[in-house]
Amino acid sequence: MQQKRKINLAGWIIICMLAGILVGFVFLLAAPKSTFTTDYLKPIGTIYINLLKFMVVPVVLFSIMDGVISLNDLKRVGSVGVRTFIYYMCTTAVAVVIGLVVVNCFKGFFPVLDSSVTDSLEYTAAEAPKVMDVIVGIFPDNLFKPMVEANMLPVICIAIFFGAGILAAGEKGKKIGELVNCMNEITMKVLMMIIKLTPIGVFCLMADVVAVNGAKIVGSLALVIGVAYIGYILHVIIVYGCSIKFLSGMSPIAFFKGLAPAMLTAFTTTSSNATLPINIECCNEMGAEPEISSFVLPLGATINMDGTAIYQAVCAVFIACCYGVDLTLGQMAMIVLTATLASVGTAGVSGAGMIMLSMVLMSVGLPVEGIAIIAGVDKLFDMGRTTLNITGDATAAMWVSKVERKKMAAKAVK
Ligand code: ASP
Repeated sequence: MQQKRKINLAGWIIICMLAGILVGFVFLLAAPKSTFTTDYLKPIGTIYINLLKFMVVPVVLFSIMDGVISLNDLKRVGSVGVRTFIYYMCTTAVAVVIGLVVVNCFKGFFPVLDSSVTDSLEYTAAEAPKVMDVIVGIFPDNLFKPMVEANMLPVICIAIFFGAGILAAGEKGKKIGELVNCMNEITMKVLMMIIKLTPIGVFCLMADVVAVNGAKIVGSLALVIGVAYIGYILHVIIVYGCSIKFLSGMSPIAFFKGLAPAMLTAFTTTSSNATLPINIECCNEMGAEPEISSFVLPLGATINMDGTAIYQAVCAVFIACCYGVDLTLGQMAMIVLTATLASVGTAGVSGAGMIMLSMVLMSVGLPVEGIAIIAGVDKLFDMGRTTLNITGDATAAMWVSKVERKKMAAKAVK
């Protein structure tokens, strides 16, 4: 008897995403003035995102604490932390360089806008924080405020300190360590319930994105979006493909297949934070060590943004072209530096990368108002860049897991 093939979560997400795109196009073409998708479908998508978001603080807090405790040794926490941080910064710097190379290849096709157009642009930049402020902001002055505001860098700091405290307390910390482990398990179970709703959320969000943005993708904006996506794809193939194949010793195809539910969720929710739980789940299924993924992935969702870095490089050069400015090599190097640092300060939420773009523009003396040119289609950039952001985190989890496994095996032999 032939067995009926069951469609898995990734399958359902793809089906619902395509259905959403179709519905979006129907509204775009048949009823372009209708606000049905925004009024009725988007709110359902928002409910889904809200459910994911409210879990972010408990997930990050308990998973990082649990990760630190299960590493069982403060020295190991340090070595995993440093290795992860270096990996994140290097891949992000490479991402900016890829973005700059690609955008420079297409520079000739970008328009120089008339000064009457550029003068009329208005964009009030939400204040981009200074680099030192980002660093100071990592360290909380209050235990609860960062959790209430879902300010993830200080939440990570709190989790690492308390995890380390529990380890340092030895026998006395054991019971609390077990409690943290139970809380982590419970949080994950709640998440699994929410994750089951992903196809519905994805359908509603996609339909609205297409219905609202479809008409805007014309002319040079389509070109610059295309250029960003070429950068995204190159980074996935070159950096992530090589990292998975050579550092983690895994088949890239199996990796991308295993990560598909997380990548599709990132694509539609445009939030690394909201995708974090699914990312942890996918990486663990693919063989990442749970104590590593629960430390490396929340950290990555907050500080590792390769897609955002590519986007910032591409948009900085595009905006420069619109204003008729030719960036020098020195300015390009400045973009690499600021975009890499900006990615640490970018929150893993929808649209945060655009706010940090002002920091990059200012660093090379470009008018922040230029963001107004691309702001209308930021969502479309964001879908790709968030997908990249979480994929980069997953490659780190796989690699660090492999290194730690090797180390443990070597220790066991000794
Ligand atoms: N939406 C991105 C993320 O959550 C951040 C950004 O806007 O670049 O990873």
